[in-house]
Amino acid sequence: MSILAIDAGTTGVTAVVVTPDGRIQATGYQEFRQHFPRPGWVEHSPEEIWQATLEATREVLGKVDQSELTALGITNQRETIVLWDRETLGSPRRAIVWQDRRTADICDRLRADGHEDRVAELTGLRLDPYFSGTKLLWLAEQEPHTWALVESGRYAVGTVDSYLVARMTRGTWHVTDVSNACRTLLFDLEAGDWSDELCGLFGVPRDALPDIVPNWGEVAPTDPAVFLGLSLPIAGIAGDQQSALFGQTCFEEGESKCTYGTGSFILTNTGGEVVRSDAGLLSTAAWRSPGGEMTYALEGAIFVTGSAVQWLRDGLQIVGSAAETAAIASTVDDTDGVYFVPALTGLGAPHWDPHARGMVIGITRGTTRAHLVRATLEAIAYEVRDVLETLPELTTLRVDGGAAANDLLCQLQSDQVGRAVERPEIVETTALGAAFLAGLGTGTWGSTDDLRDTWALDRRFEPGGDRAALDASYARWSEAVERSKGWSG
Ligand code: ADP
Repeated sequence: MSILAIDAGTTGVTAVVVTPDGRIQATGYQEFRQHFPRPGWVEHSPEEIWQATLEATREVLGKVDQSELTALGITNQRETIVLWDRETLGSPRRAIVWQDRRTADICDRLRADGHEDRVAELTGLRLDPYFSGTKLLWLAEQEPHTWALVESGRYAVGTVDSYLVARMTRGTWHVTDVSNACRTLLFDLEAGDWSDELCGLFGVPRDALPDIVPNWGEVAPTDPAVFLGLSLPIAGIAGDQQSALFGQTCFEEGESKCTYGTGSFILTNTGGEVVRSDAGLLSTAAWRSPGGEMTYALEGAIFVTGSAVQWLRDGLQIVGSAAETAAIASTVDDTDGVYFVPALTGLGAPHWDPHARGMVIGITRGTTRAHLVRATLEAIAYEVRDVLETLPELTTLRVDGGAAANDLLCQLQSDQVGRAVERPEIVETTALGAAFLAGLGTGTWGSTDDLRDTWALDRRFEPGGDRAALDASYARWSEAVERSKGWSG
């Protein structure tokens, strides 16, 4: 009665097996390559995502009794757009990743043409390169030969969830869910369906898009001939952040979580109503039940947090591993006046400036690696504070994701926002959420109450530090953010 869950993230694919008591029994992981063809561009090879999925799954299958598996859940990096041939399942080009900034000018153009208000009204989003719609418009304009085959019906368009379902079912199924669909700029949030008006604006033929299925309940069986001999019902699908909200069991209105992965994403469940923010938060679908009941969320999407740590490791090569950052940063009491604005792919919530770029300021002859590493962790805490300032009713923050394993970061976060930070025993909450959905859809759990009972606290971080000094450093950092804006054009 265990569930297999695949988390196809931005940097790698995690496969987990979750037991009925809500514990992770075994894990497999495979990183895949990041392609940066030009400054501000980020791409993934769909084939490499699929191979990483197979590799991570193979690893986890080697650690469990396969006959115990009853269902499969899928969660994924959202907004990233994939094209594939419906017959061969091969992709004509690499996927354009959510972090990719190439459509900043298209966004400016659509804004100048007066489309932003209507787009925001229909989608709950804004005109930013982050979302899929402008990436598709870019393909239509820049790669017309490829796009002609989208229009002829030969190529399917989808997010990574759709692509994986297509690969696992040998092209039989072309589906997605509301949590992914609502990030494309093509989805009418209130109506809960693709919008002809938006498809028209972004030039996307509606027939190229997947069908929208509920977030839990059986969708299709995997084909054992292409998926490691497994014939499991795909029974849960959700975009990574909504999946983490589900995995943290934030089922009630007002319940919130922050996931620290490549970026950081704060989501608050707003129940059956679309709640709109004038402070830079997005309105988004959380999930839809098999009965058709929608749950919505407010979201603060911060693009670069954990990936700034990755940049210290891979770009600057001043740390050997992400895990090492806590110890290195702890060798100094503060950053000695160094501030890092990790606008490496522009700024998301609450600033929304695709033209912002990263900046380190305050460097002196005394600055060391430890100061820069500490400034990176502090920057993550400041970025999350920026979003939490717009959500004043929050008392405790539930955290998860790869970087939530960092005790110093959790403490810095608690100090910065002056609230308790609660870390559950399982921080792979994104994958857990997909398992919860698939298990709810196939009877492993009878209700969300059963799931809530599985949530267990690992550690609670209480706020401390000198309030005035913390606020002063936050103000200084905010000043640096202003200086980073508009840099690329
Ligand atoms: P995703 O699902 O977005 O790929 P994960 O939840 O797997 O991300 O988290 C990975 C990210 O977290 C990476 O960007 C990595 O740099 C960062 N990270 C992982 N461990 C730590 C740590 N101990 N301290 C700080 N950052 C970390």
